[in-house]
Amino acid sequence: MKFRLEHSRVVFDAHPRIRAWFSTRRGGVSRPPLDTLNLSYGVHDDPEAVTENRRRMLAFEGHGLNDVVMPHQVHHNHIEWVTRDWRGRGSVPGTPPIPETDGFLTEETGVVLGMGFADCVPLFLIDLKGRAAGILHAGWRGTAAEIQRLGVEHLAERGISPRDLAVGIGPSIGPCCYEVDRPVYDAISRVAGDETMTQTDETHWQLDLKRANRILLERAGVPPGQIIEAPYCTGCRPDLFFSYRIEGKHTGRMGGYVCLNEN
Ligand SMILES: [Zn+2]
Repeated sequence: MKFRLEHSRVVFDAHPRIRAWFSTRRGGVSRPPLDTLNLSYGVHDDPEAVTENRRRMLAFEGHGLNDVVMPHQVHHNHIEWVTRDWRGRGSVPGTPPIPETDGFLTEETGVVLGMGFADCVPLFLIDLKGRAAGILHAGWRGTAAEIQRLGVEHLAERGISPRDLAVGIGPSIGPCCYEVDRPVYDAISRVAGDETMTQTDETHWQLDLKRANRILLERAGVPPGQIIEAPYCTGCRPDLFFSYRIEGKHTGRMGGYVCLNEN
């Protein structure tokens, strides 16, 4: 189980039939300040460039735009089970995304689960017996709403034990670059304790959101040795990633993807 950088993406290897990957900003066709692999249509990029970038990210695993499902993400904790007949939804403009969803799970092969990220924590859920996989979008709100615990519980309802899960914590903002204020401190410390935060002045803390998710995943029953963190802070690596925190709202978005293969 490990993350590795491969050309313009970071791959999470956990099971031979489950593919999980995360885009970098390299290897796309968008112009500055969205150079070069922006995956969002919502940041004033050329739509044709975004479509080409999305196509490239799927082509790495032999998939096309018609194979992916993407949601409208709202920083909450709603999770959907995805089936093959949803393929294509949210892939390009004109195909409505799955509404108000920040977590996808599937037991079906041939459908790619996709989500957008810029600093928020991507969680790749991989059943080590190969029966299911998922992806969760865990910013501070989703983390505080315990989307990671809900993801583990949804899988358990279908007979997949937390002990059989590997979870990849993908590239996201690190404590070095993530200053938060009192409302965030309160929300995170309520669920994950305040050891995830270092106080810097009366009203500010540096938050380790990856660690908060790790704590909550362990509490949900995922073995600590099966929770793997990608060794990247999106804020510290402008050469590799877009960062909303560091570059502001006029920056690009990365994508996380997972799918079950037939073999
Ligand atoms: Zn950093």
